[in-house]
Amino acid sequence: MSDFVIRIIPTDPYLRIPEESLQIAKELLVDRITCDNIQIHSFENTSFIDCGGNLQRISCPHCGSEVDFAWWGDEVSKVYDKSFKSLSVCMPCCNKVSSMNDLLYDYPCGFALSVLEVLNPGVEITAELKEKIESIIGSSIRIINAHI
Ligand SMILES: [Zn+2]
Repeated sequence: MSDFVIRIIPTDPYLRIPEESLQIAKELLVDRITCDNIQIHSFENTSFIDCGGNLQRISCPHCGSEVDFAWWGDEVSKVYDKSFKSLSVCMPCCNKVSSMNDLLYDYPCGFALSVLEVLNPGVEITAELKEKIESIIGSSIRIINAHI
């Protein structure tokens, strides 16, 4: 049986959210959402936060061309080797520069230094709850719906 996880990350892949703010956001989620478990993960380097089996397509934010998964995998390995210090890539379709964080992932994915994970939530994150989390952590957030 597969699990459903909502992963909440700041939209800025290099933003370091204080542990205290993450804890407050977690407590708000515990209060508002029925789920199996809520966890905070923080990383030394920016990490790829994926949507698991939900990832079907990656497209170029400039020209909309679909990106080859093999190319993408190679580029992730390259930024990984540099500890994700830069996420810039030159797109193979139109030769324009983009951030790996800004590619059009379907479903959404992203890069972040920390993530709040809600395991098997009973409800979705409403716009109102999203805004509350954003004000707690002081940043806009990206919500990633992952099947793992
Ligand atoms: Zn392109």
